[in-house]
Amino acid sequence: MYRTHNCGELRMEHVGQEITLSGWVQGSRDLGYMMYTDLRDRYGITQLIFTEGKTDKNLFEKARTLGREFVVKIQGTVIERQSKNPNIPTGNIEIQVTELDILNASKTPPFTIEDDTDGGEDLRMKYRYLDLRRKPLQESIMFRSKVAVETRSYLSQQGFIEVETPVLIKSTPEGARDFVVPSRMNKGQFYALPQSPQTFKQILMVSGFDKYFQLVKCFRDEDLRADRQPEFTQIDCEMSFVTQEDILNTFEGLTRYLFKACKGIDLPTLPRMTYDEAMEKYGSDKPDIRFGMEFHNLNDLAKGKGFSVFDNAELVVGINAEGQANHYSNKDIKKLTEWMQRPQIGAKGLVYVKWNEDDSIKSSVGKFYSDDDLKEWLHAFGAKKGDMLLILSGEDEKTRKQMNELRLEMGTRMGLRQPDDFKPLWVVDFPLLEWDEESERFHAMHHPFTSPKKEDVDRMLNGDHETMKSLRADAYDLVINGVEIGGGSIRIHNKELQSKNFELLGFTKEEAQAQFGFLLGAFDYGAPPHGGLAFGFDRLCAVMMTGHGAIRDFIAFPKNNQGRDMMIDAPSPIHNEQLDELCLKIHLDEEK
Ligand code: ASP
Repeated sequence: MYRTHNCGELRMEHVGQEITLSGWVQGSRDLGYMMYTDLRDRYGITQLIFTEGKTDKNLFEKARTLGREFVVKIQGTVIERQSKNPNIPTGNIEIQVTELDILNASKTPPFTIEDDTDGGEDLRMKYRYLDLRRKPLQESIMFRSKVAVETRSYLSQQGFIEVETPVLIKSTPEGARDFVVPSRMNKGQFYALPQSPQTFKQILMVSGFDKYFQLVKCFRDEDLRADRQPEFTQIDCEMSFVTQEDILNTFEGLTRYLFKACKGIDLPTLPRMTYDEAMEKYGSDKPDIRFGMEFHNLNDLAKGKGFSVFDNAELVVGINAEGQANHYSNKDIKKLTEWMQRPQIGAKGLVYVKWNEDDSIKSSVGKFYSDDDLKEWLHAFGAKKGDMLLILSGEDEKTRKQMNELRLEMGTRMGLRQPDDFKPLWVVDFPLLEWDEESERFHAMHHPFTSPKKEDVDRMLNGDHETMKSLRADAYDLVINGVEIGGGSIRIHNKELQSKNFELLGFTKEEAQAQFGFLLGAFDYGAPPHGGLAFGFDRLCAVMMTGHGAIRDFIAFPKNNQGRDMMIDAPSPIHNEQLDELCLKIHLDEEK
């Protein structure tokens, strides 16, 4: 028998018992006449003790050969500790070891297996199996498992059926690049890996499954950022005979259930905000509403007073950093301005107005505006003494984006974005189409099967080009703490409307037929009204556990920023014979 207990289990009530434990050696402290060794498994750490006089000499010598990460089995007696460690659950006891089996030796690990390790990113990715022994990673992977189990439990209770859809498919309409897989049996032809199961889940609705879900791997060949991975998991869902309201209610239910079951948190009813309101107040379609600091439009108050920068701007917009006036010296403001001017944000400048505690007003545009003018601005924000306005100006969309960054930064600096404070919301009424100036084309804001709102259908079928920009969709996103958790839409199930949408998106009839003919064909046989959504599962887990959206630690074997798996060293070249078989060699040779 390898163990009677695990390493996180023993307490005072076990004192006196003979037990067997197995695990990894975390480390030893050899004091000469006695030695402490920490034994670790995924349940915790238990202290072993070897004492001169009490421990058999040979056993003590053997214990001295133990290195970090050796795998051992020990037998011994649970005793009360002399100096207790209140920081760990097993901290009141230790094991007086009577037998020691070395099950496996270990090389010295390249970094310490501690909560805070000394290993750099690349090293830890290469030795992911060692990194995964660390408690924070063990906890996030176990948390993920819990969220998956609870998701399945909730959705199946609600009558959803889990259906697996294929991984070798053809291009899906999510707007990223496809990963492709060459077909050996159909030379020169390729499968695409699904960016999502979108078309399949819609077909499942045509087949009458009514409520579908799947925890599913999706693949998108995009440039990577901290919160992106080329393969990730979605909680993917679709429902028939539903309105947007039904879908929001169902998945608000899931969200609340998961927070309760996995975090013990009762979420309030989720507020809803239109896309327009989110952009107006927060300059973002994924606003962090843990704090206010909403945008105020200053066009009326700030223009026409002779300050040409504001006069020539499409938008003058500000936020009120409450109580910050005396926290920001000229030097601090300069630093903040430089931060805003970095190419990632690209602001031209930053204007401040401070209402000091002594009632004086100080501003970088004091030359152009009287104190009374500036007071009017402060009042427009509902500011108090001690507050500081931060103002940006320029082209509308750009300026809002920059202000969004500034608002988030100020929120962080002011401690208003606490990781254990959860403020989810629905953002609704997204535009149907997005006009891309560069390519002079419309793109689907969500995807090409998204339905316009009922009241916009007429305008879509009969309106002019400008009208198309104002169409709203039955499309929605769930946002938690400024992180987009997922989204979905009611789908078009009417042929005329779908054709019109394809036409607006620049597909010819033939192109639409070639890419989505199978779906359109299915729609000829009685498609029910339907809609759905997908949550990013990795991201949901990350936000629930850490308050932010960095997903890498919630995926057991992630890729690095270059899309590489450092542990198995993928992607990697393949043999010429394999290339030959796939008919790929010729093409590669030509490239050279
Ligand atoms: N397939 C969509 C996505 O991956 C979600 C949906 O519309 O259901 O974002």
